[in-house]
Amino acid sequence: MGRTGGRAARLSCRHDEFAFSIALHTLAGVIIAKMIDDCRTERWKLGRLALVPTMGALHAGHLSLIELAHKQDAAVAVSIFVNPTQFGPREDYNKYPRPIEDDLALCGRAKVDLVFLPSAEEMYRPGLAEVMVDLPQLTSVLEGKHRPGHFRGVCQVVAKLFNIAKPDLAIFGQKDFQQLRVITAMVEALDWPIDILPAPTLRDPDGMAMSSRNQYLTADDRRRGLAISKALFAAQAEFDAGIAQTNRLLTTMQHILLEPHLHIDYIAAVDTISLKNVEVVTGPTVLAIAARVNNIRLIDNVILKPGA
Ligand code: AMP
Repeated sequence: MGRTGGRAARLSCRHDEFAFSIALHTLAGVIIAKMIDDCRTERWKLGRLALVPTMGALHAGHLSLIELAHKQDAAVAVSIFVNPTQFGPREDYNKYPRPIEDDLALCGRAKVDLVFLPSAEEMYRPGLAEVMVDLPQLTSVLEGKHRPGHFRGVCQVVAKLFNIAKPDLAIFGQKDFQQLRVITAMVEALDWPIDILPAPTLRDPDGMAMSSRNQYLTADDRRRGLAISKALFAAQAEFDAGIAQTNRLLTTMQHILLEPHLHIDYIAAVDTISLKNVEVVTGPTVLAIAARVNNIRLIDNVILKPGA
């Protein structure tokens, strides 16, 4: 399917690709651009712009990024796009949740100025050359090691989103710590005039990091999955009590994760900049966990800051 030209859709207008419900009337004032040309046109009307890239299925964690964007003296754009190129062949691209009407309603309530909502066909038009941006030192570890090609897809789509929306700044969550680091390094290495702002991880009251994938969890999965944040908090408490050897911290985490029989992809202590393994915490260090509960992959992390 090719591009059909510039048609920014205001909420009151017709939409030809999604069956919008009447609930969308609450969104009056939010510009929804499904085509790249529309996004470009609308973007230039907004002046200084903060972009919050998402894959939708928005939750309070995403909303906290939007809130932070509003504090930047800028108009706020949110992109909603489940990017096929960052999913592996056995991953959950097809079943990834896409509650688009709810997402748009949330954007309306959060006073977002512009939503960019392209289709996969619009972003990856047939005939376009394959482009790969790779940062091998940062992507050969952790998520990159367990999800081959994932960060090439992330860099590809974020590069396109940046070129389309031309944000002055973009906000990424620390929940996806390696992604935040990779994007920051990409922008720095390629000299793009875009500030990358980190946003802290929002958690449910029980400690679990909010994630669009949490909705797949049964009550029992969730109880078991809670071991991830519990393990991170226990290691953080040990570090706060003076233990800086990461083998001690990693062992503590491992014990907590093994009890509910989680399938652990990795438990790591890495430098926040180089993402190289750390043996003794003397500088900012991320403790990171990826584990699967009932085949649902969850990731989480905490940052240790000596002397903080
Ligand atoms: P996603 O839709 O999962 O691609 O996430 C979009 C953005 O929201 C990314 O920058 C994530 O790091 C961020 N994010 C996801 N979950 C949370 C959370 N619990 N707290 C803060 N930011 C989050």
